[in-house]
Amino acid sequence: MNTEILTIDDKSLMLAEKIIKGGGVVAFPTETVYGLAANAYDTAAVESIFAIKGRPNDNPLIVHVHEEYDISSLVSYIPEYAKLLAKAFLPGPLTMVYKSRCTVSTAVSCGGDTLAIRIPSHEGAQRFLKHVGLPIAAPSANVSKHVSPVTAIHVFDDLNGKIPLILDGGKCSGGIESTVLDCTGEVPCVLRSGLVTRDMIAAVAGSCDEYVLKDGERVRSPGIKYKHYSPKCQTALFDYDDRQSAFSLYKEKENAGVKVWLMCDSGVADESGCANVLDFGETEYEIAANLYDKLREGEQVAELIIAVAPKKQDGVMVGVMNRLKKACG
Ligand code: AMP
Ligand code: MG
Repeated sequence: MNTEILTIDDKSLMLAEKIIKGGGVVAFPTETVYGLAANAYDTAAVESIFAIKGRPNDNPLIVHVHEEYDISSLVSYIPEYAKLLAKAFLPGPLTMVYKSRCTVSTAVSCGGDTLAIRIPSHEGAQRFLKHVGLPIAAPSANVSKHVSPVTAIHVFDDLNGKIPLILDGGKCSGGIESTVLDCTGEVPCVLRSGLVTRDMIAAVAGSCDEYVLKDGERVRSPGIKYKHYSPKCQTALFDYDDRQSAFSLYKEKENAGVKVWLMCDSGVADESGCANVLDFGETEYEIAANLYDKLREGEQVAELIIAVAPKKQDGVMVGVMNRLKKACG
């Protein structure tokens, strides 16, 4: 199969619609990462997403809809706090899990009775979703366990020959996957952290829990139990306070002839004196936006990436650290 990369216009959207309505899949941009889209009503199309990615078949997909879509046909109950959160944060990088009406294919939720819904804010994503007019099941458009894609080229590197079309909407501004929030209980509960933080949610909803997997318990968001986000080279991760050890390891490996790169924020980069640096930038939003791009850049050039965790560990950094530990820990 030939994989085309096309910028988003009327012509490419018509092609995308034809592919989706014919039971195929298309990659599309969002403000978090690129998604791999299929018609959520079409079981064979949804199953093909799992096959193309090599995704475990107990890890459910998020359904994406445009901002004017009425989700009451998809979910049976929307609590009052969820309406407030939707008003505050949607469209945006927040996925909300509800009791499902089971109108879309059961393959989307892997047979479960809940459904995760997201309304992306990316202009290209909105155009695509409005053009197709269907609820779109979409995980990140990478091979399972690899680093999520934040450019059309990243998608191409993973899925060339496996999908017909990548809609190119530029580099994703957010850079890490959406916050996943369980809205089936009395109080919302963060299942996966992201750019919409627990504190931001609590400020609107009154309170917000965070899911912690207890021994022997069935995992509520299967995605969190899998190894994820891994670059194709060796990695090591150091705490901010232990950065001198990271610099020493870098020198030792460099002297041994290893292609070694330091991955860190701009402040640590300046302090390090290392020649090969994958610089995340300065602010927490820059670091989130650059994380996957730098991991993908690094795996192309490095045999070993030595990452130093940012000093700040709260807010948006909770989501960043969660990914950084899975990628480099
Ligand atoms: P991805 O699209 O690859 O970022 O993965 C989607 C994430 O959403 C995974 O972590 C899933 O486990 C989670 N997810 C999707 N649907 C549900 C659901 N119904 N309940 C809980 N978590 C879900
Ligand atoms: Mg993913």
